[in-house]
Amino acid sequence: MLPENTHEIVEEVSHLLLDVISLGSPPELPERYASVESLQTLHARLVSLRELLYAAANGDLTRPVPFKGYMGGTLKALQANLRHLTWQTKMVASGDFTQRVEFMGEFAQSFNAMVMQLDRTLKELVDKDTELSKSNKELLKEIAIRKHTEAALLEREEILRHLATTDSLTGLYNRRHFNQLAESEIRRAIRYSRPLSVLMLDIDFFKRVNDTYGHTIGDVVLQEIARITKSLVRTTDIAARYGGEEFIVLLPETLAAEAANVAEKLRGRIENAPIQTEKGPIAITASLGVSDVLEVKEGGYQETVLTDFINKADQALYASKKTGRNKVTVFSPPL
Ligand code: GH3
Ligand code: MG
Ligand code: MG
Repeated sequence: MLPENTHEIVEEVSHLLLDVISLGSPPELPERYASVESLQTLHARLVSLRELLYAAANGDLTRPVPFKGYMGGTLKALQANLRHLTWQTKMVASGDFTQRVEFMGEFAQSFNAMVMQLDRTLKELVDKDTELSKSNKELLKEIAIRKHTEAALLEREEILRHLATTDSLTGLYNRRHFNQLAESEIRRAIRYSRPLSVLMLDIDFFKRVNDTYGHTIGDVVLQEIARITKSLVRTTDIAARYGGEEFIVLLPETLAAEAANVAEKLRGRIENAPIQTEKGPIAITASLGVSDVLEVKEGGYQETVLTDFINKADQALYASKKTGRNKVTVFSPPL
C-alpha cells in the first residue's frame, strides 16, 4: 500500500535529482531521506557522474568511472575513444599520416580528410624537393663543365697569343708584335717628349756558319745571340727577332748615345765569347746600328715615323757593315 502522499514524494525527489544534475553546486540529500538507501546510492552516483562529465568536458579523461553497467561502460568507452584520438593526433603530429579516426561521424570524416591532405601535401613537397635538388645537381654539373671549358679556352687563347707574338726559335718577340709595341712606345715618347732609341744587330757572315756547320748549328747560334741580347738589355726594353739573323731592341727613356753604349757592350760580349756548340766553339761577330726618335717628335705620330725610325737604324747598321763589320754606328743625317 503506497502512502497517501506518494505523488508529492515522487515529485519532490525527482526535483531534487534534477537539481543534482543541473545546479552549480548540487544539493545534499535532505535529512528525511537519509534512511532511504537506494535514494542515497542514486544521489551519490548522480553527483559522481556529474563530476565525471564536468571533468571530461574540461579535457580531463583520467577520472575513474565509479560504477559499472550500461552507463558506466558507455562513459568508459567515450573516455577510451577520446584518449585514443589524443594519441592519434600526437602520431599525426610526428608524421604518421596513416592514422584514421573511426568514431564521431562528421568529425572523423573531417579529421581523416585533413590527415590525407597533409599526407598529399607532404609527398608533393618531397617530390618538389627531389626535383629541385636534381636540377640543382645538373646546374652545378653544367657550371663545372662551363668553368672547365672557359679555362681551356683561356689557355688556348694564351697559347695562340704567345704563338702570334713570339718567334718560335728564339723566344723573342716576332717582327709583327715588335712593330705594334714600337708604335705605342713612339706615340708615348712623342706625346711626353721622352727619349726613345732603337738598335739593330745583324750577325756577320752568318751564311758561312750555316755553310760550315750546318743549319742546326746556325739555329743554336741564333738562340745564343738572342739569349745574350735579352740578358744585356733592361726588362723595359723590347727585344725581337726582326729577320733571319737580324735582331732589334727598342729602348724607352734612352738617348741614342746611351743606346750606343748598350750596343757596344753587346758587340763586345758577342766578339769575346765564342758560342759553344756540339761542333766546338764558334767565334761570332755582329754589326749594329742605332737611332732615336728625337728629330721626329714635332708634328705627332704618323705611319711613317716608325718606318723612318727603323730605316735610320738600318742605315746605321749598313754603315757598320760597309766600314768593316763588328762595330756600332749611330745614325747621323747626311750633310
Ligand atoms: P753579312 O755579314 O753581310 O750579314 O753576311 P751574312 O752571311 O750574315 O748575310 P746573308 O744575308 O748573306 O746571310 C744570312 C743567312 O742567314 C742566310 C740564311 O740562310 C741564314 N738564315 C736566315 N734565317 C735563318 C734561320 O732561321 N736559321 C739558320 N740556321 N739560318 C738562317
Ligand atoms: Mg742580314
Ligand atoms: Mg748577316
